[in-house]
Amino acid sequence: MKNFSPEQRELNIQEMAHDTYDLVFIGGGITGAGVARDAASRGMKVALVEARDFAIGTSSRSSKLIHGGIRYLEQKEFALVFEALSERQHLFDIAPHLVHPLRFMIPLYRGGRVGMRLMGLGMWLYDVLSLWEAPELHSKMDAQEVKESFPFVNERNLLGAYAYSDAYMDDDRLVFETMRSASNFGATIANFVKATGVEWSGGEVSAVVVEDQLSKKKFSIKARHVISTVGPWTDLVAVDLLKSWKKILRPSKGVHLTFHRERLPLKEAIVMAAEERIVFGIPRHDMVIVGTTDTDFQQDPSQVRANKDDINYLLAVTNQYFPGARITEKDIVSVYAGVRPLVDDNSQTESKTSREHLIYVDPRNVTFVAGGKYTTYRRMAEQTVEVVLKKWDLSERARLSKNRTLQPLNPLVTVGLLESAKKAVPRWAVDFALSEEMLMELAERHGMEAHDILMRYLPELSDYARNENEVLYGLEVLHAIDKTMCLNLTDFVFRRTHLFLAERDHGERFWHSISKIMATRLGWSDQQRLDQINALQKQIHFELEWRIDSPRTAL
Ligand SMILES: Cc1cc2nc3c(=O)[nH]c(=O)nc-3n(C[C@H](O)[C@H](O)[C@H](O)COP(=O)(O)OP(=O)(O)OC[C@H]3O[C@@H](n4cnc5c(N)ncnc54)[C@H](O)[C@@H]3O)c2cc1C
Repeated sequence: MKNFSPEQRELNIQEMAHDTYDLVFIGGGITGAGVARDAASRGMKVALVEARDFAIGTSSRSSKLIHGGIRYLEQKEFALVFEALSERQHLFDIAPHLVHPLRFMIPLYRGGRVGMRLMGLGMWLYDVLSLWEAPELHSKMDAQEVKESFPFVNERNLLGAYAYSDAYMDDDRLVFETMRSASNFGATIANFVKATGVEWSGGEVSAVVVEDQLSKKKFSIKARHVISTVGPWTDLVAVDLLKSWKKILRPSKGVHLTFHRERLPLKEAIVMAAEERIVFGIPRHDMVIVGTTDTDFQQDPSQVRANKDDINYLLAVTNQYFPGARITEKDIVSVYAGVRPLVDDNSQTESKTSREHLIYVDPRNVTFVAGGKYTTYRRMAEQTVEVVLKKWDLSERARLSKNRTLQPLNPLVTVGLLESAKKAVPRWAVDFALSEEMLMELAERHGMEAHDILMRYLPELSDYARNENEVLYGLEVLHAIDKTMCLNLTDFVFRRTHLFLAERDHGERFWHSISKIMATRLGWSDQQRLDQINALQKQIHFELEWRIDSPRTAL
């Protein structure tokens, strides 16, 4: 695959300042990445700018589930569930290293909101809507089986449970891999380039005005059509672009907590649905993610973070379901918050607001895409490009009618190659003199690309890495720079690894070696390296400010 590196970023910016594009995208979350990939795969000339790091917005702050959305059955959104379940199947095929089957269990209680019979009907419907293609069909458990599977579960009035299949994913990495694939199809992409306005010619848009956030250079990107994919920033950016704009979003905040798995030993995910809001408990490697909340949020989305009310709410739900675990604030390893870009449908409460997306085409060749879910991003992308194409002449429509988005995101990680990589681990352990455990982690994350990573970067690490964990993060950081345009330590710790979410010290013990490697590769001075560590500490403080005692920060 093509490099997607800082050097490529510079070349892309130079190209953007001169060329004219069919489509220019503003916003580098999953929506922008998805539409850019779809359009580029059809042969359109495409550019995309992201104001900060890719996936820094909602796209790294989700529940990290690829799901049909069992709760939408209650809201009778059957079409949405059906579409999401078929997309789930496609994602297993095109991103097998990022999307994995997961079993979910819904315990039910006497006197609860939903009884066993109604839930059974919902489960059956969920299997039907997946066309019976779920990794495993639903099953029923009695109270005893639930107690055996879930230590600490609340046994009082427990009737039993239903189990069904869905999937978990790496949300941020899905964005990077989609961006890389778009770039491979020919899209010209740069992060840290902010759109500040548009230029008009003859009553139609002619260019996007942008500013490189690193060099502070301003330039225009000439465009035939502009597409805003800025998620929860839609109403803010639309005012900059069009000047007059009627708000279309009802943004809502969602908070998640993370715990060590020893404190909340979940083998399968749990759906805590006693109240109208559903809270998930999702096991992922060594951690468990619990969330989410759902409250109206009207501020700048970049300022979103958890407060004490959010924390208390999620702790209360967790303790209601797992009273024996006696979870307290001290058990929380990390917290993250995001803003749902929900389209305003005048619902009375936040959780009733529809998850359907909106594609609004302004006649002056500016389109806004907002709402939707991760799960359906590929379909939403397809629909967006098709809506734009409707305005183009017949011969162009015919030429650009077919996308190639059902191809694997990364040609080195097909379902077959992922299995081959895992099987090759014992051989790699001998060839590279590393443990099978560490190499399996690399193979699971990168499929056959793991071999390229080892060959290319291992020789560079001899001066920096003192143990296998440092080798692992050394390989990851060099790959992240060259293949995901990672430019900062904070962006690496927050969005290229699980360090911020899964480690109590947020990876502090690795910051020194990681930042040294980044400094050599990116040409930072000693002072710049220290500034990077300070910026990371500041971001951690910001995200976790709800804690009375903020985490230790001294290095
Ligand atoms: C708490 C929570 C849980 C969720 N859980 C799930 C789930 O489990 N499964 C699921 O399918 N969906 C889930 N979702 C929904 C899903 O995460 C979102 O629909 C999706 O991430 C939205 O992506 P986006 O690209 O539209 O927006 P974003 O990811 O926010 O991307 C918008 C980007 O635009 C950039 N931008 C803003 N202004 C400018 C500018 N002027 N110039 C350039 N760039 C700009 C921002 O920096 C940002 O990176 C969840 C959402 C939340 C909040």
